[in-house]
Amino acid sequence: MGEEVPGMNRDIAELRQTFRSGRTKEINWRKAQLRGILKLISDNEDKIYSVLQQDLGKHPVESYRDEIGIVKKSAKYALENLEKWMAPKKSPLPLLMVPSKAEVLPEPLGLVLIISSWNFPFSLALDPVIGAISAGNTVVLKPSELSPECSAFLAQTVPRYLDPEAIKVIEGGTDTAQQLLQQRWDKIFFTGSSRVGSIIMSAAAKYLTPVTLELGGKCPTIFDSLPDSDLEVAIKRIASGKWGPCSGQACIGVDYILVEKRFAPRLVELLKKCIEKFYGDSVDNLKNMCRIVNKHHFNRVLSLLEDPSVSATVVYGGTCNEQNLMIQPTILLDPPLDSDIMSEEIFGPLLPIITLDNIEESIEFINLRPKPLALYAFTKNEAFKKRLSAETSSGSITFNDTMIQFLCDTLPFGGVGPSGMGRYHGKYSFDTFSHEKAVLQRSFLLELEPRHPPWNSFKLDF
Ligand code: NAD
Repeated sequence: MGEEVPGMNRDIAELRQTFRSGRTKEINWRKAQLRGILKLISDNEDKIYSVLQQDLGKHPVESYRDEIGIVKKSAKYALENLEKWMAPKKSPLPLLMVPSKAEVLPEPLGLVLIISSWNFPFSLALDPVIGAISAGNTVVLKPSELSPECSAFLAQTVPRYLDPEAIKVIEGGTDTAQQLLQQRWDKIFFTGSSRVGSIIMSAAAKYLTPVTLELGGKCPTIFDSLPDSDLEVAIKRIASGKWGPCSGQACIGVDYILVEKRFAPRLVELLKKCIEKFYGDSVDNLKNMCRIVNKHHFNRVLSLLEDPSVSATVVYGGTCNEQNLMIQPTILLDPPLDSDIMSEEIFGPLLPIITLDNIEESIEFINLRPKPLALYAFTKNEAFKKRLSAETSSGSITFNDTMIQFLCDTLPFGGVGPSGMGRYHGKYSFDTFSHEKAVLQRSFLLELEPRHPPWNSFKLDF
């Protein structure tokens, strides 16, 4: 383990003291923090575009859509609903309990640790913070070291807009994360890879700390036959779900497509046209796309093409520009199923298309692999939709679109199995950072004597 994180123990003691003071439980405190997040954005919007541009080359429209807009929406939604979420919920009781009253009272967990990733370094850091403060917790946020400008921005601005004795940003990489993980937390919320997710869970086990793990994996997209009138929209949505969010460096981005053999040539043609319209046709002049985050990930993505049995299946793209860390949108047709590109999360702009004789085989194809975070299916066949919903398991399933489920605050967002554990967004975020306490109030009337001894003369007869 590297150098000790300066002031970490003092910071944690201060956060615990703040929680004990009870002020984070007050609704006014919670609302003030949520407003603080909105003010942080409105005062610094240009700077946020600039750090996202520096870390990832994000286009301002993409930065608004996937980062600033998301955080604003979540903070406003929490502000609108906070009172309702915090209110105790009356609970019905069995007749045996009369006269009594029961309710479920949400209470904050205490001090929570949030560790986030670099691909949406602003929204994936602050969106969970919104849930944690809505629920009345104190927070340590550790942003990813791979998006250093955004991390520094959060470290500088968060203390100016949010209660600095209750919410702290601690910057650093693996060493820092490991030191933080040695501390006792009341909850750990982690966004990142499945590999690190299991390290987080092992560390949390020491103090029986509950965890939410927002992980990754391969998100399949099923492409069934569609009428010509719907094709254009479908292709745009697939292209945006593959290359649009952070150049494919997105946990819920399209990883690969499953399609019937007879439609594959048309699908490839339409995708090529769409790529050229959206992003251009030369790797030296790609527009509206992020760069790969760093040299390590650039080499990792390209290494997926190294195997000659894989590179031979490239039907579009395949070029790169090392100077600006850009990889051209690339399509592969039927790479070997046992290759790395079909077994590892791609997390980059390469799109394998796998052909099947019959689209219904996609169900077995998916079920033979780890449960995905997101499953997409473009189809108008209602019976097939029903089968997909009932016979496959994934964090979410979206019909006829990609990525958009992330925006729905009324839907839980999270994975299942290796793609994650727990969920957040909207009320689910509040619940994720709360304990639902059962509160039962009894009267002294109507004592049910058989519950007490002596029982010798009593015959059980239920
Ligand atoms: P990562 O797991 O490498 O890192 C995530 C965080 O963990 C970072 O803050 C990093 O500093 C920390 N970390 C790294 N190694 C660690 C270790 N050994 N011990 C403790 N902490 C450690 O992931 P990443 O590269 O930042 O993100 C990419 C992965 O995250 C992909 O798998 C992607 O699918 C997933 N992801 C999931 C979601 C989601 O919402 N489900 C969102 C974004 C990314």
